Amino acid sequence: MLVGQREVRGCAEDCGFCAQSRFAEAETPMHAMMEPEQILEHAKAAEAAGAHRFCMVTQGQGLSKRDFEKVLEGARLVAQQTNLKRCASVGHMSVARAKALKEAGIQRVHHNVETAESYYPEVSSTVRYEGRLRTIQAVEEAGLETCVGGILNLGESREQRVEMAFELARIDPTSVPINLLNPRPGTKFGDRDYMDPWEVVKWIAIFRLILPAALFRLCGGRVENLGELQPLAVRAGLNGVMMGNFLTTLGSTPDEDRAMFTDLGLNVGRHADNGANPRPDNRSGWLEGETPDLVEDYLDTLEQATDAGITVTLWDPGTQLRYAKKDKVPPRPDGAPNRWPDGRPETAEPLSGMPHGL
Ligand code: SF4
Repeated sequence: MLVGQREVRGCAEDCGFCAQSRFAEAETPMHAMMEPEQILEHAKAAEAAGAHRFCMVTQGQGLSKRDFEKVLEGARLVAQQTNLKRCASVGHMSVARAKALKEAGIQRVHHNVETAESYYPEVSSTVRYEGRLRTIQAVEEAGLETCVGGILNLGESREQRVEMAFELARIDPTSVPINLLNPRPGTKFGDRDYMDPWEVVKWIAIFRLILPAALFRLCGGRVENLGELQPLAVRAGLNGVMMGNFLTTLGSTPDEDRAMFTDLGLNVGRHADNGANPRPDNRSGWLEGETPDLVEDYLDTLEQATDAGITVTLWDPGTQLRYAKKDKVPPRPDGAPNRWPDGRPETAEPLSGMPHGL
């Protein structure tokens, strides 16, 4: 779930799937960096909607000192005032920054490899693959859990998909988030088709076989690529899904996701936990003491949340983002065109981009 990103007119990087890149002809979705109190507000809304875990996400390769401090303070507030597990996805970082995140209450850091190393030059030329591996190593050195995954259907071959799965097995992250490309007009990969849903199910099973111990989650693009086969994908090997909306696209509603898991006979119950009382999917926890169990006191459903006077406002990129029109788009560093499938429309589509991929 998104909580913040820097307000810039397009990210300086050239990730080919991302509408936020300044090299993409897509309208640039923009959101000012949130204040710590706003981060807390979103965390409480997510908790009330049934989330177990909350991820603070920013765009770009790394954060300024000022923005990093905001993430630290936001993490402290979420740790103190909710019962959520806390993750961060804030670009490249040193061991010192990773340790600072840990001290602020962050438990897991997300940093994708995105694709197979052999295909990576097609995906980004400004964000280096080696830098990704260095950041993942720094996170491990700081004693944090790692969350490392990628995106399927960027044009990689089947062999390269398997290559990525084995690279993830070598990294051995705590959590593996897999995204399915949701092609955005005006990006390098904007003219690609969705995956065949049965093909997606098969690839989930293949990744599960190669990564038997990982906490495997399906994230961006699951609604668009899988449609009615989402429950089958869960059965093929997922541990969970990312709920709520993504960085710049809409997801399923929490009620829809809860119904899907319940229909499958799976446990969607909340667990009292804040590191001091780790749940099964929390392999390490270090915070002392209890935090208030805000959700359990009040509700099992969103209706009860409303009755209890709790307003659940999930992040909605359809209404909460501002879109900056780009007058000039520099040529991509790799020379690839930014494709609009049927010629650029007069009014660009309002939703652009993929969940943040760093
Ligand atoms: S994925 Fe992240 S770093 Fe890459 S262009 Fe998008 S916002 Fe920038």
